[in-house]
Amino acid sequence: MAVVGGGPAGMVLGLLLARAGVEVTVLEKHADFLRDFRGDTVHASTLTLLDELGLGPSFADVPHQLIDRVQVMLDSGVTTMADLSRLPGPHKHIAIVPQWDFLDLLADAAKQEPTFTLRMNAEFTGLVRTGGGRVTGLRYRTSDGEVRELAADLVVAADGRRSAVREAAGLAVHSFGAPMDVWWFRVPRRPDDPTGGLGRFSSGSGLAMIPRGDYFQCAYLIRKGTDRRLRAEGVEAFRERVAKLVPWVADRLGVIESLDDVKLLDVKLDRLRRWHADGLLCVGDAAHAMSPIGGVGINLAVQDAVAAARVVAGPAKLGRITPAVLAKVRRRRWFATVVTQNIQRLVQNAFLRRTLDGGSTVAQGRTPRPVRLMRRFPPLQVVPAYLVAIGLRPEHAPAFARREPARVPRT
Ligand SMILES: Cc1cc2nc3c(=O)[nH]c(=O)nc-3n(C[C@H](O)[C@H](O)[C@H](O)COP(=O)(O)OP(=O)(O)OC[C@H]3O[C@@H](n4cnc5c(N)ncnc54)[C@H](O)[C@@H]3O)c2cc1C
Repeated sequence: MAVVGGGPAGMVLGLLLARAGVEVTVLEKHADFLRDFRGDTVHASTLTLLDELGLGPSFADVPHQLIDRVQVMLDSGVTTMADLSRLPGPHKHIAIVPQWDFLDLLADAAKQEPTFTLRMNAEFTGLVRTGGGRVTGLRYRTSDGEVRELAADLVVAADGRRSAVREAAGLAVHSFGAPMDVWWFRVPRRPDDPTGGLGRFSSGSGLAMIPRGDYFQCAYLIRKGTDRRLRAEGVEAFRERVAKLVPWVADRLGVIESLDDVKLLDVKLDRLRRWHADGLLCVGDAAHAMSPIGGVGINLAVQDAVAAARVVAGPAKLGRITPAVLAKVRRRRWFATVVTQNIQRLVQNAFLRRTLDGGSTVAQGRTPRPVRLMRRFPPLQVVPAYLVAIGLRPEHAPAFARREPARVPRT
């Protein structure tokens, strides 16, 4: 089996299939997992999965921070919108860990399995098909430019939201659009700063701040397609806008020396109508790019991977991966994907779009109804916490992948 993409979906799938005894090769186009400004959240349900896989002790060794609440700051005050301490289960928080550390851990665990191969510097370039159209393998390019072929009874596209595999397969994508893009940047964090995730909204702008040890990873919302115009206004104008939103960081914004320190995320929200073709399956962002709202993309990608491993491991060992088997993966994950994306679309359209246009209640200086509700009935703060940190359909490790807790030898 070949998995294209060594992100959260691809590495979890590779590990689980290898533990089932399936021969699996994961191809990753980069030389390592190091990338700045990627999703760095490991959610409560993924922490439970790591426990089930026996990886809890190794994860505990990786330096990380814990977030147990998400708050919004409005002109009318600070409100907790998601209280993770009220969650059921052993993990009442989201861990923030550089994604490369998480992926390295998964890679080290997978390398313990004799049926697992990880090829870095291996970029997917095309599918190999039979005359009847069935996918029977793929071509990839190595770092020295050589193109090689890999035969596979199943090719899994786990190559993210710009998936080259799904494009090569010609699968139809339904795109829902988004009113905003995101500018990512960092600001220093001081010991007495808030410890939870923060959102600040005001007329025409919004900022999310994720505490990361000695800095905040910040996501500044801009109207879709305005990146070039805003950059032309220069760094000082940007610093002023951020300082107006969150005055207590104003004296730290000198760290943004130029707009080269600010990275654009082109926000997408889409999903495939069908996640499979004969001999091919899409999971994670390759099947459904998530909006950054709620930071749930990794959770869904990991859950897809667990579901896919559960569904295909048995048929793979018998050499019977049929389209009907592959269709089961989408059926299992469809409800959670669609409902989560619909909630994101609701927040985007009913709140963020209007906030950016200066027309929402918050832009008019009033407190939105959901915020008033959370202030009045704090137990309700568990609902958004559950949706974000656990999700609508958490997936548990299949029996073949479970192990007793142990420390994985780190490479
Ligand atoms: C800036 C940013 C911040 C984010 N913040 C969060 C967050 O806080 N929380 C959250 O849950 N989600 C966040 N997300 C979304 C999250 O990162 C994704 O939803 C998640 O990583 C999807 O996992 P995946 O494995 O499906 O795809 P990806 O993580 O995109 O992994 C795909 C992998 O495939 C590789 N690849 C691509 N093309 C090829 C090819 N042709 N050949 C071989 N390999 C290839 C890529 O190098 C990559 O390693 C963020 C995304 C971005 C861009």
